[in-house]
Amino acid sequence: MIDFAQFDSLLQVADYFTTNDICKQTIAEARWADGEAVCPYCGKKHCKMGKDGRYLCKDCRRKFNVTVGTIFENTKLPLRKWFMAMYLISSHKKGVSSLQIMRDVNVTQKTAWFLLHKIRGLYGITDAIALDGEVEMDEMYLGGREINKHESKKTEGTQGRSTKTKTPIFGMIQRGGNVVAMKVDDTKGATLMPIVSQFVEQGATTYTDEANIYHKLSENGYEHLFVNHSQREYVRANDIHTNGIEGFWAHFKRVIFSTYHCVSKDYVQRYIDEQAYRWNTRKMSASYRFEDMFKKAAKSFDYTDVLSLSSVVDVVAWKTKHDSYYWAGKVA
Ligand SMILES: [Zn+2]
Repeated sequence: MIDFAQFDSLLQVADYFTTNDICKQTIAEARWADGEAVCPYCGKKHCKMGKDGRYLCKDCRRKFNVTVGTIFENTKLPLRKWFMAMYLISSHKKGVSSLQIMRDVNVTQKTAWFLLHKIRGLYGITDAIALDGEVEMDEMYLGGREINKHESKKTEGTQGRSTKTKTPIFGMIQRGGNVVAMKVDDTKGATLMPIVSQFVEQGATTYTDEANIYHKLSENGYEHLFVNHSQREYVRANDIHTNGIEGFWAHFKRVIFSTYHCVSKDYVQRYIDEQAYRWNTRKMSASYRFEDMFKKAAKSFDYTDVLSLSSVVDVVAWKTKHDSYYWAGKVA
C-alpha cells in the first residue's frame, strides 16, 4: 500500500508516479480497499485482469479499465499530471490558478482549466458534516458593490437584501469546527431554515445577527442568541457574535479576489466547496489532503452529475442519490 505521508512536495509526487502503471495501481488501491476489483457495471467481484491491463468481469463479461467511473475516466492526459495537479490544489492554502497549473504541470492553459474544474468538483463530495454545540450563521452577497456586507447592512438595515445583481451565500460554522456554506436562491427564512435543520443538530446554540430570517430558530429547536449589527453591536457578553463565520467570508473573498479575480455565477458553489474544504482540513497536512482528495477521485461515481451542480437544491438531490453514508448518518 502506498504511504501518502511521503509526499511533502510536488517533486516527491513527480518522482513517485513515474509511469501510468504505478498510477493505475494506486487508483486501484484507493478504489478497492480489499484489493479485489469490483465490476463498475454489475457490482460483482469476479474480475480478472487481462494482458492488456484491463479487467474482465466473469459475471457480465464486460471489460473495464481501473479508471471507469472515476474522475480519470477516458482521460488522454498522463495520470501523473492529474496527480501533480491534485497535489498542487491540495497543498496551496489559497488555491491555485490555471496559469500556475499550466506552468507547474506543463500543460496548456485550457487543459489546466479543465483539470482545476474537474478536481474542484470533488469537493462537493463531502463526508457527513453535522454541526453541533455553538454554531454561528450568516449570509453574504457576492458581486455588485455590496461586497462589504457590514457596510451594506449598516446603511440598509436588514431589509431589501436584493439578489438581482448579487449571489447570496449562506454559511454556518461550528465554533472550533467545520463550516458548511452554499449558494442559495434567496435568503428568506423559508429557504434557510430547512438547510439549518439539515446540517445543525437540534438543541445547538445558534448565533446570528438581528435579521428577521433567524427569528424562527428558537421555534425550530435551537437556542438562539443574536447581536444587533444595525446598531453597531458586534459582540455581546463576550461570546454572542458571528465573528467566526465572518472570518470565513473574509477569507473566501480574499481568495476569490487574489487568486481567481472573478468568478462566474455558475461556478460559485464549486469555489465555496473548495474553500470550505480547505477550512475544514486546515489542521491537516498537505499529504493528508492529497490522500483524501485521491480517495475522492478514485471513488466511483457519475462525476458529470457533480460538475453540473450549481444550486443547493441540486447539491442536496445529488447527495441523496450518491452519498447514502451521509444520509444514513443523519437519519440514525
Ligand atoms: Zn460485471
